[in-house]
Amino acid sequence: MNVAQWLAASARLHPDAPALLTGTRVEADYATFAARAAAIGAGLVRDYRIQPGDRVALFMSNCTPYLECLYAVWWIGAAAIPINAKLHGREAAWICDNAGSTFAFVDDDSSKALAAVMEDMPAAMQMLSVESADFHTLQHNDGGTASPLPRDDHDLAWLFYTSGTTGRPKGVMLSHGNLVAMSLCYLADVDSVAQRDAILYAAPISHGAGLYNFIHVRMAARHVIPESGGFDADEVLDLAKALDDVAMFAAPTMVRRLVDAAKNRGEAGEGIRTIVYGGGPMYLADIRDAIAIMGQRFVQIYGQGESPMTITSLPRAWHADVDHPRYLERLASVGVAQSVMAVRITGDAGQPLPAGQTGEIEAKGPAVMLGYWNNPKANEETLRNGWLRTGDVGRLDADGFLTLSDRSKDVIISGGTNIYPREVEEALLTHADVREVSAIGVPDSDWGEIVVACVVLEEGATADDAALDAHCLEVIARFKRPKRYVYLGALPKNNYGKVLKTELREMMKPNTPPSS
Ligand code: AMP
Repeated sequence: MNVAQWLAASARLHPDAPALLTGTRVEADYATFAARAAAIGAGLVRDYRIQPGDRVALFMSNCTPYLECLYAVWWIGAAAIPINAKLHGREAAWICDNAGSTFAFVDDDSSKALAAVMEDMPAAMQMLSVESADFHTLQHNDGGTASPLPRDDHDLAWLFYTSGTTGRPKGVMLSHGNLVAMSLCYLADVDSVAQRDAILYAAPISHGAGLYNFIHVRMAARHVIPESGGFDADEVLDLAKALDDVAMFAAPTMVRRLVDAAKNRGEAGEGIRTIVYGGGPMYLADIRDAIAIMGQRFVQIYGQGESPMTITSLPRAWHADVDHPRYLERLASVGVAQSVMAVRITGDAGQPLPAGQTGEIEAKGPAVMLGYWNNPKANEETLRNGWLRTGDVGRLDADGFLTLSDRSKDVIISGGTNIYPREVEEALLTHADVREVSAIGVPDSDWGEIVVACVVLEEGATADDAALDAHCLEVIARFKRPKRYVYLGALPKNNYGKVLKTELREMMKPNTPPSS
């Protein structure tokens, strides 16, 4: 089925329900939301010759027209390519070219970014700013079909470009069926959704946060874009109090900032029902702190573009089950396989490994992508008999809880032994002076690689190498201790808040002086 059918159904069943909000201001109810999607879709066909199956780019900051444009694309059977607005114009142009896209929805800022790199764009590229009078006319046209064009489950819906922490991004082909499977898993494994709920887009719609729109459209819930268009912890806390029943997706760095802000205000995130976190490691020390300040509002998911938001989840109940003998172990895990997914661990030769052993995480099920766009080599490397090789390393316990170690390429091999940076990071983060840390392997003539800890200290903190070393000796095996500490003002991160270990490794190469 076409995911846009969910919008059509909500418009029929709950026409007056508030649908799109900027801050607390309602911009459209469900009848209006669907009518605009249909009208914009009709304009795409009539004025821009977009056909079913064509790829339409969306390169703009979060705003309510973003959702209208996404559904316009699906309404007419085309596929969307949401591109993070923080990418450089050149990177966005590369994506449009790679996807063979000939049309992009933009905003005034991103259209300037693209105009500066027109030579990198496909020759036939056309753009329309959602801030223009033309868009306004399109939005309010009467045209459009009453129902979305029928689509099969395996038809392409969303071409999701990976964040590309190494090399060029790859276009992950997500089908309508993938998005429906992912959305139903939300209800089964993440959280319930009711019409009164509000999904808050405090992170880019082009990525994880945007993927949660579907189930909230299905349930005719409210979709809220913060006035700032981005993430501001105080704004989120204020908005949640005004809106109530708020759910949001947040990367661990955002959770950290929310918790700090709530603590400063003497609040607990009132009005926020659920914070779904994932997309990067949530350290045990940080989630315990978050629960202590904000209470039981947290659900963890583990997924990747290739199986969006849907490999495992650690629901609220496991965050709250403090009396369980393995509570902390479970809290440090990414939970259990989501309802439609199978998860296994494999060894170097691809053989399945028993519970307790560490290896590559593989996932299989209807959330797994169709494959990469025009990239048979990457498909061959990543998909094996329907199993998605995640490139993440971890282990399952006897009850099916998955604990993530690291990306396989980040594992440090020192003196012939594997050291998982995450373990070193977890250990250092339990030191009160350490705010953030990333452990990397740096080439060394004696050891092959040594562990180097890149540390960001809390403001005014005075911990030094000796103090951190003494702390590590208390909590992890001697051989895992960093052989070097480097103190930085901030860790390099990409546009999604993921720490760029490749950049750190580059900075720490022997003979390259660390910059702080
Ligand atoms: P992306 O495709 O950009 O969403 O990145 C996916 C990658 O983020 C995964 O392969 C993991 O390495 C990491 N990741 C996602 N969720 C989690 C999580 N809950 N804990 C730790 N790492 C995660």
